[in-house]
Amino acid sequence: MLGKLNILIYSEQELLFKKLDKQRETKLSLVLHAEENALLFARQSLDGCTAYVWPMPPCSRCAAKLAQAGIRRVVAPQPSGEQMARWGPSLELAAWVYRHAGIEFAQVDRDA
Ligand SMILES: [Zn+2]
Repeated sequence: MLGKLNILIYSEQELLFKKLDKQRETKLSLVLHAEENALLFARQSLDGCTAYVWPMPPCSRCAAKLAQAGIRRVVAPQPSGEQMARWGPSLELAAWVYRHAGIEFAQVDRDA
């Protein structure tokens, strides 16, 4: 959509919580997902925008927040087998969020 800020989300493990590496549960309870971080720093309305997400589709928690922010389209790669093994139920719940929120969810070939 021209004239609108679309958000590009690239998830990479940050060094911010490096000190908590041996305290996995504590670290996981504090770390923001890339989608959450992008929403916090957008600083303008995202109503009607597209979120381009890499290297995996948003989890259910992030999908709900993207919907609440007014995102209307999510573009993400097909999850890898490893991602599906770890995140499968969450990704399925995210797909439910998209359907019920009227969000277009476009999955692209990760090797394209
Ligand atoms: Zn997430």
